[in-house]
Amino acid sequence: MSATGSMFGLAFGDCIGKPTEFQRFDEIVQLYGPAGPSDLSPDGYVTDDTQMALAVADALLEQPADLPIGPFTESVIKHFLAWAISPDNNRAPGMTCLRACGNLADGQPWPRATQRGSKGCGANMRVTPIGLVPHLPEPTVAGASQLQAALTHGHATALAASDLTAFATRWLLRGMAPADLIPALRQRCREQRHVYHGDWLGDDLWRIPHRDSPEEFIEYGWDECAAVLDRLAEAAEQPDPAADPCLATGEGWIAEEALATALLCFLMYPDEPVRALGRAAATGGDSDSIAALAGAFLGARHGIEAFPADWPQRIEYRDRLARAGAAWDAGRS
Ligand SMILES: [Mg+2]
Repeated sequence: MSATGSMFGLAFGDCIGKPTEFQRFDEIVQLYGPAGPSDLSPDGYVTDDTQMALAVADALLEQPADLPIGPFTESVIKHFLAWAISPDNNRAPGMTCLRACGNLADGQPWPRATQRGSKGCGANMRVTPIGLVPHLPEPTVAGASQLQAALTHGHATALAASDLTAFATRWLLRGMAPADLIPALRQRCREQRHVYHGDWLGDDLWRIPHRDSPEEFIEYGWDECAAVLDRLAEAAEQPDPAADPCLATGEGWIAEEALATALLCFLMYPDEPVRALGRAAATGGDSDSIAALAGAFLGARHGIEAFPADWPQRIEYRDRLARAGAAWDAGRS
């Protein structure tokens, strides 16, 4: 179990899923066989998923341990904007992130800059670092996870799915058994259903048509997540290892499906990281994000040693991934 393993696992999954993101399932199977790819691409390149997760990680690293809301918000915005104009931002980034960052760069306050109708998986493909920070109180994990989503994806389901993604990572890092994961996530959906983190999210985000209160706004997001967890629970009981996991829990272009399909691949092979990543990359949907999240879960559970020994030396951004992981692993002991 380690934060380093989770940071590298995210990047490994992202790298393995990068070539297959826009391929159909049958094309992937034809190219790699039914188990999917089993190695990093030769160049070790990752996508915007890892780049944006590193932006969140860098914001976490430069803030005090108690994560003050205002400075953390400014820090995440700063690192998102640095990513947006970086020459390395050429990895098929999501339009929602680009639009929101464009608005933020124009000086709009984030509740106006964000894309309120979007619950794309860009919200939670980058959130797992928040689950790795040691000693953060649960409300801070929740608030920070939802806030980083809300800066670009203002939809309630993007917020709730990001919260669940961070907590799944945190629980696995702390030794939760895979079999306990779905019940714990479902319980969190029930407990959080009426919790709107106004201290983090402000009093503006929830004001959309047909919502009369912050509680009513966020409830919709938790209910959508609970629904996909129902599908996941059913699929995880008897998964078909030869089928496209997206058929069971969705293609993952949206936040709650990216979480569910990544969890399905993780739960199929919770102790075989390379196999689980191959399964996650051999998906008809958003393969790089599904595999990135699966990799973050696998790495949190097993540590970096569970992956092939040469992978850490071959992956892009290895120094930044190692720096974040080392800081949080040192803080845990
Ligand atoms: Mg991507």
